[in-house]
Amino acid sequence: MLQVKNMSFGYHKKPILKNIDFQVDKGEHLSVIGESGSGKSTLLKLLYGEMDVHEGSIFWKDTQILGPKHNLIVGYDFMKYVAQEFDLMPFITVSENIGKHLSNFYPEEKQARIKELLKVVELTEFANTKVKLLSGGQKQRVALARALAKEPEILLLDEPFSHIDNFKKQSLRRNLFNFLKANNIVCVVASHDKEDVLPYSDKMIVLYNSKIVANNTPEYLFSHPKTPLIASFFGEFNVIDGKIVYTHQLKIVDQSNLKATVKKSYFKGASYLIEADLNGNSIFIENEEPIENNKEIYLITKQTQP
Ligand code: ADP
Ligand code: MG
Repeated sequence: MLQVKNMSFGYHKKPILKNIDFQVDKGEHLSVIGESGSGKSTLLKLLYGEMDVHEGSIFWKDTQILGPKHNLIVGYDFMKYVAQEFDLMPFITVSENIGKHLSNFYPEEKQARIKELLKVVELTEFANTKVKLLSGGQKQRVALARALAKEPEILLLDEPFSHIDNFKKQSLRRNLFNFLKANNIVCVVASHDKEDVLPYSDKMIVLYNSKIVANNTPEYLFSHPKTPLIASFFGEFNVIDGKIVYTHQLKIVDQSNLKATVKKSYFKGASYLIEADLNGNSIFIENEEPIENNKEIYLITKQTQP
């Protein structure tokens, strides 16, 4: 279990994280969400022991995670961290990179492990390719596989799919998070992409203004977004009568007391986003069809909160 208690940190006296408290239980996946610059990467580095906390403590089970002031070598055997900038060995192959920290005393086990991980990150056909010849996304996948080679108890991932194109992202996420669950590996992932989070995280925390402003399941935070910041993570929304209403929660009906005038329809793939004027403000509605400009429409908000 990972336990962070009343932890604070800043760079050169500028506070970045203040009184951070949370815990991650056995086998759980936690996402850390927040705007760019909100301190997600800083938090992961502190969890890894790359820097010293200024106040409070971090524990993995009974071991206190300590930074460079207390440890000559940064990091712990039970923990792996894949940073936003991953450093691989460019002149050796993908397989050699993945197996870099595995013992040569068990060559068969080592090869089996590398083969298994190549499959997880879908790089089997690149096993013998030198890393310097790979794309950014492929390198990121090698870094993920290498972090898993020695089967850590806890894995810290910083924007793990940021360099990977959409073709590969979906299946890679599934492979990776299913692999972690199947092997009971605790995972903390920093991300700004809801697709990384919603299907796979047991809990998410939201960082804002140096603090944790929400800590709950993705389902709960989606249906009870306390602030526009939290709602914006899940998708486009409107504020109507002071309430947050996602675009898919507005429904066009024959008659209602919410009358709006269509301004534009945007094609979004599975649906259209309709921009309409409601009392001088733009609102946005998800609709299956485009609607002609200047048409008057009537809206109701669909109740989705349980
Ligand atoms: P995020 O990962 O959420 O984008 P970061 O943790 O990287 O945020 O950064 C949080 C804040 O700390 C930012 O304002 C950033 O400019 C600052 N920061 C990050 N690294 C350093 C550093 N090594 N020295 C000084 N300030 C830093
Ligand atoms: Mg970051």
